[in-house]
Amino acid sequence: MHETFDRLKQAAGPGGFSDDAAEIAPYLEEWRGRSRGQTKLLLKPATTEQVSAILAICHETGTPIVPQGGNTGLVGAQIPLHGEVLLSLKRMNRIRAVDAPGMTLTAEAGVTLKQSQDAASAERLLFPLSLGSEGSCTIGGNISSNAGGNHVLRYGMMRALVLGLEVVLADGRVLPMLKSLHKDNTGYDLKQLFIGAEGTLGIVTAASLRLFPHPAQMVTALTAVPSPEAALTLLGHMQARTGGLLSSFELVSRPTLEMVLRHIPNTRDPMETPSPWYVLMEISGGAGASLEALTQSALEEAAGEELLTDAVVAQNQAQARSFWHMRETISEAEKREGVSIKHDISVPVASIPAFIAEATGVVVKKFSGARPICFGHMGDGNLHFNFSAPAGQDAAFSAQWDEVQLTVHDIVKAYSGSISAEHGIGQMKRDLLPRYKSSEELDAMRALKHAFDPKNILNPGKTVPAVRKL
Ligand code: ZN
Repeated sequence: MHETFDRLKQAAGPGGFSDDAAEIAPYLEEWRGRSRGQTKLLLKPATTEQVSAILAICHETGTPIVPQGGNTGLVGAQIPLHGEVLLSLKRMNRIRAVDAPGMTLTAEAGVTLKQSQDAASAERLLFPLSLGSEGSCTIGGNISSNAGGNHVLRYGMMRALVLGLEVVLADGRVLPMLKSLHKDNTGYDLKQLFIGAEGTLGIVTAASLRLFPHPAQMVTALTAVPSPEAALTLLGHMQARTGGLLSSFELVSRPTLEMVLRHIPNTRDPMETPSPWYVLMEISGGAGASLEALTQSALEEAAGEELLTDAVVAQNQAQARSFWHMRETISEAEKREGVSIKHDISVPVASIPAFIAEATGVVVKKFSGARPICFGHMGDGNLHFNFSAPAGQDAAFSAQWDEVQLTVHDIVKAYSGSISAEHGIGQMKRDLLPRYKSSEELDAMRALKHAFDPKNILNPGKTVPAVRKL
């Protein structure tokens, strides 16, 4: 083992490793504290060649290795749970190119999402992926988890934003797929296999990403809506009235907002009268007629049809940011409130109201005092459908964790939904998959895993459930 570690340190180059427990510690815990790992060796390569050399050694010696980006993942995929070598891509942090006319950006895996957005902005272009953790999450992590976020409605998930990838295979060979082509129809689209694969099939070291024109106008509006049904009708109404210019459509329940107001400093109730539900929307687009006037009149019509009871259109960037601040600090507020059992689910968009009614009803009846905290990307059919513990009952509620999740996920399945819409599988949801995915799909996943990583050294035990032994 010592000999292998010495070879790995050598391969990682100067400044490319640490075996100092204090330096390694922050890499071992997921931010919500739900996964804690261990390792004796952290590798921090700065080049693709170094990653390649590292994996060649791991493959030869059968040494398991776990890749990590900004360590903001929510399902434990990036944590070495069994003492695997940890591979941080953070030092691979160069933007290799921005092609403004071609609207592409080529970035290494360790570039943060914020850096990528800024590099696009500098060319008056937009990289549309937008997440609460954008200051610290990295492009490699965004790709490996197929991140979603607040602009999926308009621009798609990370998968839709990747044109090319550079990937180091388990045995150290490099798949040179870093093309900036908008069209490339040459057989299997191999890069897609590594997107959302959580580092189980190969290590993403760089990516070519799609950019978009920076919207000339952007309007942010917060609306009070009487029900999820009204919100669903409002979604269709706003899409129709703006000609498809909606870039966000976020549903937030009143108890969720109240939790934010309770825990997050410098937040205040945005409207005079409380409403059971809110929708935060963003409309962005062209340089022509005033988008704000269009939004205002569309909202007035919606009010006339009783789809909303109040609306505030942000009058400046500061006000828009304050609305988004409330949306983006929900997770932090939940954390401060205490135990929260979370579900990152999706169902067909039109089923959202029925799902919320049924799942809330069943959980609240079965788990007395559970407090529903429902919010999320309604336009994508993706809810963060969480339950906070009854006041003062954190321990008792925690003991019911699996049962609460099973109850929610079974209802998700009945709606033909997904038990992981945008956070991935990792360690946390791996063993749930056999209940919710067909054995045919799981067999295909296992076949891919075996083909790309026959020695099972890449993030072993994550994403792909083992064959059930009966
Ligand atoms: Zn989300």
